[in-house]
Amino acid sequence: MRKKLLLIDPGHGGIDENGFYTSCPNPDKNNKNTWYKCMWNGDRWINEGDWNYQISASLIEMIDKIGDFDVDVTKYTQEDTSLDSRVKKEHELLPDLFLSIHFNYFSNYSVKGTEVFAYKNAGKGSRKAANIMARNLMLDIEEEPLRTESTERFYKEANYKVLRETKGSAILAELGFFSNSDTQRMMKYKEYQDKIVLSLYKSINQYFNELH
Ligand SMILES: [Zn+2]
Repeated sequence: MRKKLLLIDPGHGGIDENGFYTSCPNPDKNNKNTWYKCMWNGDRWINEGDWNYQISASLIEMIDKIGDFDVDVTKYTQEDTSLDSRVKKEHELLPDLFLSIHFNYFSNYSVKGTEVFAYKNAGKGSRKAANIMARNLMLDIEEEPLRTESTERFYKEANYKVLRETKGSAILAELGFFSNSDTQRMMKYKEYQDKIVLSLYKSINQYFNELH
């Protein structure tokens, strides 16, 4: 039996196709279009694309070391690539799962937590993988009181291009709020990043093991 293949899609990076400045050596604070994905965390400018890339790289490293499935990635550098090229790579490789990695942003900086998305008309595989990941992220990453007493958490529906136009099972994980200061503080620690990566790995493994 051939090994299962995971295709990781690190969201954003560099300057994205909408002109948003997602890498922030010198963002223009007066221009909302250039700073909305750049935040000052007390030490330095941070941006979502860098976090996505960092988590993706650590996940690939973990899979290379201990995974019994294969992994590829939609882009190899920290620069952005178009949504078309991300989808095209999925069409070429036809992976068993496409996982897009993101962090959320909200104008109310106190909002935090994780979310996992699948397309609104997603197939059974996408829905299953998304539910496994949504629940594990809640249990592994979130603190009380975000974790609900029922310990249930389900995926949310979205109409993102990378979910809509991919051919196989595809999910998108928002691994926390990049705009939240607690999350920014936690993300400085490798231990916290590793906790996220391990949770993702666990979910992917679980999903592949349940595939027939
Ligand atoms: Zn994003």
